[in-house]
This record gives sequence, structure tokens and C-alpha cells, in this order.
Amino acid sequence: MNEVKTPKKTPLYYYGIVMLCLLLFNSLIMPWMAQKQIKLVDYGTFMTMTENKEIGLVEVQSNQIIFTDKDQTVIYKTGIMNDPALVERLKNSGAKFSQEIVEQMSPLATLLIYWILPMVIFVGIGQFMSKKLMNRAGGNSMMFGLGKSSAKVYVKSSEGIHFKDVAGEDEAKESLAEIVDYLHNPAKYKEIGASMPKGVLLVGPPGTGKTMLAKAVAGEADVPFFSMSGSEFVEMFVGMGASKVRDLFKQAKEKAPCIVFIDEIDAIGKKRDGQLGGNDEREQTLNQLLTEMDGFEGNSGVIILAATNRPESLDPALTRPGRFDRRVPVELPDLQGREEILKVHAKKIKVDKDVDFRQIARMASGASGAELANIVNEAALRAVRGNRTSATQSDLEESIETVIAGYQKKNAILSDQEKKTVAYHEIGHALVAAKQTQSAPVQKITIIPRTSGALGYTMQVEEGNKYLMTKEEIENKIATFTGGRAAEEVVFDTISTGASNDIEQATKLARAMITRYGMSKDFDMVAMETVTNQYLGGDSSLACSMETQTEIDRQVVELVKRQHAKARQILQDNRGKLDELAQYLYEKETITGDEFMEILNR
Ligand code: ADP
Ligand code: ZN
Repeated sequence: MNEVKTPKKTPLYYYGIVMLCLLLFNSLIMPWMAQKQIKLVDYGTFMTMTENKEIGLVEVQSNQIIFTDKDQTVIYKTGIMNDPALVERLKNSGAKFSQEIVEQMSPLATLLIYWILPMVIFVGIGQFMSKKLMNRAGGNSMMFGLGKSSAKVYVKSSEGIHFKDVAGEDEAKESLAEIVDYLHNPAKYKEIGASMPKGVLLVGPPGTGKTMLAKAVAGEADVPFFSMSGSEFVEMFVGMGASKVRDLFKQAKEKAPCIVFIDEIDAIGKKRDGQLGGNDEREQTLNQLLTEMDGFEGNSGVIILAATNRPESLDPALTRPGRFDRRVPVELPDLQGREEILKVHAKKIKVDKDVDFRQIARMASGASGAELANIVNEAALRAVRGNRTSATQSDLEESIETVIAGYQKKNAILSDQEKKTVAYHEIGHALVAAKQTQSAPVQKITIIPRTSGALGYTMQVEEGNKYLMTKEEIENKIATFTGGRAAEEVVFDTISTGASNDIEQATKLARAMITRYGMSKDFDMVAMETVTNQYLGGDSSLACSMETQTEIDRQVVELVKRQHAKARQILQDNRGKLDELAQYLYEKETITGDEFMEILNR
């Protein structure tokens, strides 16, 4: 959420329309109504009209007589007289007796019907609309931003989340434990004169448990938890963001000690670009946040946690000492972490006793906590679909593919030739990987098309965690990426579009080897590229001359070409196995790593 929405039609807009209608109604309709107002006449006129048979409707009330002319266009009123023969005479004049003559409204009734009632209705509608709008913004109702902040308060932390619910992320938990300790026992810190950081920034990719960790801090410390999303502040109507911040902090200070959590802080805390026509609303909100943070003491007991997945885009003012000066990385879980997360979530569903979570974790390499939670839930759904009472190993394994590679596209029809090509392509990857000893063995190969667009899919397994990769390992990886295309070349002597993703990946690796890992002879340990966006996509920018860029491009091409040739060679040398395996995959559509290795080693 970094684009700022300008609310085009605020409730004020609708209020304006209603107000206008009201004014029109009162200035145009009212006078017309007034024309129909009752004419006061004397009793003599009434008698004359009766005699001339000019009376239409008549109603005799206890203290007055109301009547109309024959056409019923004008209403008259007159006082009552002691006139016993009146009814008889009226009858003779042909007047109709009625109960339905419009009664003149008392000033009070006029006020009620023409002003108060519409007002009530329109305030009601306004309230309703503003409530709807606020709900959409994620908060509670509040009219015109004058009232309370819409921060959600989780006063009872006992029903909240604790550190034990957040699996893995041990380092993050460790650095947050200090804050919990401080909230438990602030005196200890005050005594020595230490003040807690006011703000802690949780930095990491989406779905890694940042929100959970913030809640867990509140849960562990048993303090109230206020949460708000940065995008919420910005989506407000003009001028509301700042007042909400003010209000949030007012509430928080009253409830101290407490945790204030601001999710997606980058939505308000983006670098101010100093350009004209910047987003004033966001800037005001950011300024208010900075003011509030400066305004309270480090030991006031209010701790602000904020989460972002784009730390590099934050305004430096936010990360200055005394603000968010502590940074806690919340990274994607490693193998161990993935296993723990799977187990935490598997507790919520019924799983087979013999499920091997380690194996699932190994297969789901690169998955975030949120994705792992999703995998477990997907497995439970799959078990229900299959009329099983608990989720099995294969339910979980299948779910990995569903979550990571998209749903199986049952009705996507590949032509026979296409299917054959895909089978060779996938076996090409797997065979090149398996033949290079350092490459991770294959876990599973499938040529069932996915909604993600991938026609085939080779799942590789990492053994344990790899923090370092050698030059040879990267080269082998590049060779593996080229293996799919290489198989098509070797077997069909032609190439298809099925390798676009491989090309991208191979290029990325080759480029990184030269520009970032210092793995080329010519450039030695000179960084040619800097990563500007570590967590989302890893954008990087070149930092070298045009000539160097040209040379880098040349070397990248050469590097990939060399690995591609190596892959081709491997496949040519193992042509028999390539055919055998491809045929097997073509028939079975899905084969496991074990089956693959068995055929290979036969
Ligand atoms: P973030 O705020 O980093 O985007 P969340 O804290 O909102 O991520 O996590 C989303 C969901 O993913 C959580 O509700 C939880 O089910 C699951 N999840 C993420 N990380 C973990 C973890 N470390 N342990 C257990 N569950 C996790
Ligand atoms: Zn491929």
C-alpha cells in the first residue's frame, strides 16, 4: 500500500447534495404549499357561499369550520357560530361533509416535518455512510474526525498471542524479550537510568510473523495492544490522519504501559521527495507521528512497534535516534523454522501420526510463515475433499504445490507433442542437477499444468540450510536452469518458449556472480551493483561506467553460454537415461525423487 488514495466522494460530498435538496425543497416547494394554505374568511362569507351553493367539502369542528369551494382548490376557514340550522342548510347546498380536509399545520408541525424530520433522516444517513466508510478504512465509526481514534484496543492480552505461538524467529524473539522485561519491570531500568527505545522497527518480507510478534510482545508483557495500519492513516479523509495519530497516542498514554503497533509504516513513513504536489496528507500524518514520538519520554511505558517490508524507503527522520532506532529483522524461516511453524499450525487440524514434517519443511523451501499456515489449512481441506478424517503426508505435499505453484489445472489440455516436450524439458533440469554432484537432488517432477502458468515443475531439495554458495555451486545451478532448454535442443533439435523463467533465473544468478559476488577474474572484488530493495524483489541499481556495463553484459552471456554447453554435454552423454526418464514422466505425469534416482541408477 504505497499509492495514496484520494477519497473522491467523501460523506461531505453526499451531505452537500442532501443539503442542496433540502434547500430547494424549502425554497420552492414550501411557497407552493403555502398557496394551498387556508384562507380565513368571516362567517358572513361562509353563509353567502352556502346559499350560492359554492361549497365543496365542509368539516364542522368544535371551534371552527373548514370548507372548500366547489372545485376544492381553495380552503377556507371560519369561526363557529351558534347556528343550529347550519347542517341542514349545508346539506341543501350540496356540500359534502368530510373528515379529510387538509388541516393547517401548526408552526410546530411545519418545523417538525419540513426541517427536523429531513435533518434527522439526513444525519442518520450520514452516520450510516460514515460508519461504512470508516469500516472500509478498518476503523470504528467516527464523524468528521472529531472524536475518538479508531485504533483497535486489545486490552486483554491473556487471550492474545504469546512468543510460543510464533515459531522460529528466535533472534527476533530474543531482541523483543528485552522490551517485555522492561514492561514487566520498568523500575529496574529507571533505577539505572536506562531508557527503552521508543520505537522498534520489525523488518522483513510479508507473512513472516511481524504482526504476530508485536502481539506476542503485548501478550507476554500483559499490556494493552493498540494496532493500526499505516495505509489506514493515509486512506482517511483529508486532515484526519494527523488527528488520528494524535488521538492514538493520547489513548496510548492513558493506558501506558502499552504497545502501539503500526503495520505498513512505509505507507506514511515514505521518504519525502521534496517534489511539488507531494502528498500533503501523508506528510502531515508523518509529521504528527514524529511530533508525538518526540513528545514523550523514553520511559513513559509506551512502546511503538512498527512493521515494514521496505525499510529502505523509510524517511530517515523516522529512523533517527529517539524514534525507530532499533531494527529487528524478521526473516523467512529456515528449515528448522519451517518445520516448527508447520507443527504449530498442524496442532489446529487433525494430521496422521506418521506425517514427516521435516520432509514437508524441506520441500517447502522459501515459504513464509503465512504460506506454511496456508499449506496446512489446504491439506486439511484436501483431506475433507477426499473424505479422510485426518490430513496425510500426501495431502500436505500436494498442498505445497497448490500454495507455491498454483492450483492444478485439471482441464488444461496439452497436445501430445507439447506434453512430450515438457517431459523432456523437466527431465533435462533434473538430470543436469543430479549429474552434477553438488546440486541438490530432485524431490519431485510433475508435468501437470498449474494455474500459475508453469507447464512443468521440478522441485529441488536443499539439504539443510545453505548460507554460503561456492562459485561452482552457482555455476551448477545455472547449468541446471539451462538443462530444460538443453534437453529440447538435444532431443527435438528445436526450442520452445517454455524456458522463459529459466532464462530469467539463470541470468540473474550469472549477473550476481559478476556484479555482486566478485566471482569474475576481471572485476575482482568490486561491487558493480547495489541492492536497493532487499525484501521485495531485490531491485538493484548499477553503479559503474557504460564501458563496464557493456563488459558485464558480455561476461554474463559468456558465463551462461558456458553452462548451457555443459548441460547439453551432460544430456548428450546420458541420452539413454534422458529418454527413459522422459518417457516414464510422460506416462506417469508426476514422479518422485526416489523413482527418479532409482531409474537413473538402474
Ligand atoms: P506479517 O505481519 O509479517 O506480514 P503476520 O504476522 O500477519 O505476518 O503473519 C500472518 C500469518 O502467518 C499469521 O497469522 C500466522 O498464521 C502465520 N505465521 C507467520 N509467521 C509465523 C510464525 N513464525 N509462526 C507461526 N505462524 C506464523
Ligand atoms: Zn524449465
